[in-house]
Amino acid sequence: MDTPDFKPIEQLLSLLASNGKKYDFDKIKKAFLYADELHKGQMRQSGDPYISHPIAVAEIVASLGLDTDSICAAFLHDTVEDCPDKTDINKVKELFGEDVALLVDGVTKIKSINIEDKEETHIENIRKMLLAMSKDVRVIFIKLCDRLHNMRTLYVKKDEKRRITALETMHVYAPLAHRLGMQRIKQELENLALQYLDPIGYKEIKAHIEEKYGKNVNFIENLKLYVTEKLSQTNMDFSLEGRVKTVYSVYRKMYDQNKTFDEIYDFYALRIIVQTELDCYTVLGMIHEMYKSVPGRFKDYISTPKPNMYQSLHTTVIGKDGIPFEVQIRTYDMHHIAEYGIAAHWKYKSGDKASVDIDQKLSWISKLIDTETEAADSEEFMHAFKIDIFHDEIFVFTPKGDVVALPQGATLIDFAYSIHTGVGNKMVGAKINGRIAPIDTVPQNGDIVEVITSNASKGPSRDWLSIVRTSEARNKIRQWFKKEKRQENILVGRSEIDKLFARHRLICTEETKLEIVATVAKRFGMNEADDFFNAIGYGGITLSKVEMKIRDEYERNHKPQEREITVIEPTAPVAKRHKSTSGVIIDGLDGCVVKFAKCCNPLPGESIIGFITKGYGISIHKSDCPNISLAFSDENNANRFVKAEWDVSASGAHKATYESAIQIFVNNRISMLAEISVALAEMHVDIVSISTKNVSDSTILNMTISCKDISHFNSIVSKLRSIKDVIRVTRVVGAPK
Ligand code: MN
Repeated sequence: MDTPDFKPIEQLLSLLASNGKKYDFDKIKKAFLYADELHKGQMRQSGDPYISHPIAVAEIVASLGLDTDSICAAFLHDTVEDCPDKTDINKVKELFGEDVALLVDGVTKIKSINIEDKEETHIENIRKMLLAMSKDVRVIFIKLCDRLHNMRTLYVKKDEKRRITALETMHVYAPLAHRLGMQRIKQELENLALQYLDPIGYKEIKAHIEEKYGKNVNFIENLKLYVTEKLSQTNMDFSLEGRVKTVYSVYRKMYDQNKTFDEIYDFYALRIIVQTELDCYTVLGMIHEMYKSVPGRFKDYISTPKPNMYQSLHTTVIGKDGIPFEVQIRTYDMHHIAEYGIAAHWKYKSGDKASVDIDQKLSWISKLIDTETEAADSEEFMHAFKIDIFHDEIFVFTPKGDVVALPQGATLIDFAYSIHTGVGNKMVGAKINGRIAPIDTVPQNGDIVEVITSNASKGPSRDWLSIVRTSEARNKIRQWFKKEKRQENILVGRSEIDKLFARHRLICTEETKLEIVATVAKRFGMNEADDFFNAIGYGGITLSKVEMKIRDEYERNHKPQEREITVIEPTAPVAKRHKSTSGVIIDGLDGCVVKFAKCCNPLPGESIIGFITKGYGISIHKSDCPNISLAFSDENNANRFVKAEWDVSASGAHKATYESAIQIFVNNRISMLAEISVALAEMHVDIVSISTKNVSDSTILNMTISCKDISHFNSIVSKLRSIKDVIRVTRVVGAPK
């Protein structure tokens, strides 16, 4: 047996011994030796022995102030999958106990979240990560440390791998670190990732920073001396540090806010750390006495902490030589939390106030996971994830002065629900800064929002589901519908399903339809069709989730034998052709009212059919309109179809134009709408109506346009398709009413 070599972890052990916390050193050594044994002979791409990686991760974990079990898990994190003689999780449990095993298992299960994966896999991975976090937040601490070390050593990897890893770091891990308030790790991750994502931009800004710093090399030093001298005249205990902005934060300011390098005011910053909150405000007063402050740049994150727990006073002042700089003032405790975030707060199973606090700080995770289990499709989950994690928050105030944090873009409805479920459900209006505002208004930072409720309110409206931005509000609205409106939900759900059948031209009797629904409902764990309709009605199950399943079931077990849909000759004796004032000739019927069906808007040149309505004359549909297929499947309608054709003779009184509904799917771009309207105007096409709907980076335009006939229509469509950033143009043939 080899003599154990403690050397590589000596540094770590002495660090632990000196930080005043209690550790089980034997257990830590044992974990190291076990990992060393398993990774024996394994090399990293850099040529270093593999064990150097778990050691580095353990060091970072220890520097966050985490406990023995976390450090052990850091040593062991790659032993279950990433080494030749891999161990299994039960063995880890046997040797190191349940907690370590749970942590190792959690870290192992979070596979690399390859952002080029299919969306589904990607989401599944993020979900796993959140689940692991909600069980034990240490899993994510260790994962972040693992990622940090991998980023530090990313240069050994191939170009493609670098790019993917850096992208994933920028899109998932850095925002997560930010959300958890782990500023130090976040900044390092961002800077490392930027080096690989935009090497040229990175170098350019770095050079700029060095140049600027070089020019004023004494600026920060003099500043520190001067402020130290002033503060020493008080009997406050304080410490001072100067810093320049990181490359990534300059990069973001320049690109996001379109600023030049010289417009960045907080390039230099001075951080003053004191003992008490009161000292913070005293120091602030002194700074404002010493220097002229820049208006609108003072922020009090002490009385209003950021949701990731960050607390500090920020102010920007003008130094000598007219150089502006930012001053951050905070206590030692606040500073510790600013650097390490939730990790600084974390105390395991201690049941004291800190851990209750932490549960609250992490409650957004369980809310997010709720979104997932509350059904909702993966698209929606991803949306919620992005909103809840990646977006910055704004703060608004209740009339009593309480602060409410909302994700940017949240509406007044979201605000109402975040106050209380009952407030949201009874909301009938709202005021912003004392003025009545529509409830879908997006409040601005600092607004005072008052929700107007009424006991006469009939509850939330279904439209709210598409207006709100937080998963919390959406879930609460759904819950309300689930509970209060079962009968209505069933009706809504049923009609949605009817439409779905029509849209896919699934032709069957009502009985078969119910059979199909019952089978699919079972697959969602529901025994009653009504429960299923109810879930669709309140949005617990989205249509996109059932669509494929219903079609499959239909195709597999219920598809009728092919029956060609042809026009039934009218039973009445065929009369001579009649002229029609509508431009349509109908066989066998004279002088009746003809109208064009709104569901399919038939155009001259297309094959059409007439359907005798009850009391409204004959409606003309396209022969392949889903409504016609549907009507055709009902034996009772056999005598209601009549042959119809366009009157192409010169004497036929054509209508000049016909309406047609189209849907255009475009990438969002300035002037997109203008280009589309210009193209239509050039072709002398009138827009009868238009509505738009935003879907993340794209927009769906629903338009009714007027055109002459099918060939005119086709030329309009191809013209629209030729416009840059138009992704899809489709004709809308509606569902039955
Ligand atoms: Mn690793």
